[in-house]
Amino acid sequence: MGAKDSNLMEKVISLCKRRGFIYPGSEIYGGLSGIYDYGPLGTELRHNIKQYFWNKFIAEREDVYGMSAAILMPARVWEASGHTELFTDPLVECKICHERIRADQPEAIADHEAGHKKEKVEWTEPVKFNLLVETKLGASEKSKIDVNLRGEITQGVHVNFKNVLDSMHPKIPFGIGQIGKAFRNEITPRDFLFRQREFEQMELQFYVEPKEEEGNKWFEYWKQFAWDWYLGLGFKKESLRLRQHASDERAHYAKDAWDIEFNTPMGWKEAWGIHHRADWDLKRHSEYSNVDLSYFDEERKDRFIPWDIECSGGVDRAVLFVLLEAYTEDELGGEPRTYLKLAKNIAPVRAAVFPLLKNKPELVKKAREVYESLKLEARTKSLAPIVFDDNGNIGKRYRRQDEIGTPYCITIDFDTLDPSTSSGQETVTVRDRDSGEQKRVKISDLKVSII
Ligand code: ATP
Repeated sequence: MGAKDSNLMEKVISLCKRRGFIYPGSEIYGGLSGIYDYGPLGTELRHNIKQYFWNKFIAEREDVYGMSAAILMPARVWEASGHTELFTDPLVECKICHERIRADQPEAIADHEAGHKKEKVEWTEPVKFNLLVETKLGASEKSKIDVNLRGEITQGVHVNFKNVLDSMHPKIPFGIGQIGKAFRNEITPRDFLFRQREFEQMELQFYVEPKEEEGNKWFEYWKQFAWDWYLGLGFKKESLRLRQHASDERAHYAKDAWDIEFNTPMGWKEAWGIHHRADWDLKRHSEYSNVDLSYFDEERKDRFIPWDIECSGGVDRAVLFVLLEAYTEDELGGEPRTYLKLAKNIAPVRAAVFPLLKNKPELVKKAREVYESLKLEARTKSLAPIVFDDNGNIGKRYRRQDEIGTPYCITIDFDTLDPSTSSGQETVTVRDRDSGEQKRVKISDLKVSII
């Protein structure tokens, strides 16, 4: 991949705000560091990414169940999972202004030191800072109990392992997937959606028999599966890489770990993790809850604690990386333009329908008819919305759609109303976002699912 535009991140952040993708959280009250709100188009984009995850990892498979666990969990869950003790980052404090920063983030340290200009910054010794967000539940001081907002969605699955066994009777190997919010009190939230304090994860926990997994069969399978899935978000192969964690880099629960990384303007960064969690979680929850979380194989009359192969990705990081990859500046028709080269399956608007002129009722009427029928098709097939736009000249409308990544614009013009121009058939123009090329298509052939 060539050198990245050094202003790419700023350009994407600005487009997100301007075009209704993502806004700083609670902005009118001054915002909250590491928290973002999704606007209309960002919500559609995020929804499409999650839907793509749900379809491929869960709905289209016979060996995976979906679930949705609660965000609030008793503090005891996090003691069992090891997060209370080990889910920490090293924190240092600037001795001049007392700002606290993650000691293992050289970019954050360098930015901070640059801010002090000529002063020589000295740092305190690193201390371990726990990332779990704490709160309390209960109506009186006495009855209040400590709970945590989940630091990863994983534990909601493990604590329901027995419930799924007892209610669904799965045969091993099988998986449980879910999508949901996680919260981390990140010391230095930065780089827009990359490191937030509230974010969403999409995960699969795939339970296997330890003996069967000695050769890493399923670990290799899910590594490849996650890689193919991530590429399907519209990345070029050279924008991604797979990297194995060094032993001192692995999380406390991991026997082996690989990351899919994306080549961001800040360097190669984690997009997705494939973790071999072995029997860490189920064993610990069995010990701490006194509930047996083993699996009994009826055929082999064998009881064991399964190993867990985890696929874990950030939804918001996927949104950010997809936008960084898709942002393109080029020239079309002799004029500069900005467009998002988003994959068709995740673009927030599937197609836009225009009457060529808004003051010609016959054009508007026909365009409305086309719009209504495509809208219905998009809804029944769970595709992204179709929009209608008659505002401004046609060139401007194309540019507006390009900037939000709409793959196709459909224009109803005077030839549409005069079927004699196209062998007795009503036709429209369909414009391709990337090439700007237009072709005439019969309305009867206009299927939003295939254009
Ligand atoms: P990092 O090393 O970047 O802090 P991590 O190794 O702690 O990430 P995991 O615990 O493996 O991350 O979380 C799984 C996924 O959740 C990550 O691949 C990432 O996409 C996402 N994620 C983790 N932390 C954040 C965050 N603070 N903001 C946004 N997404 C996050």
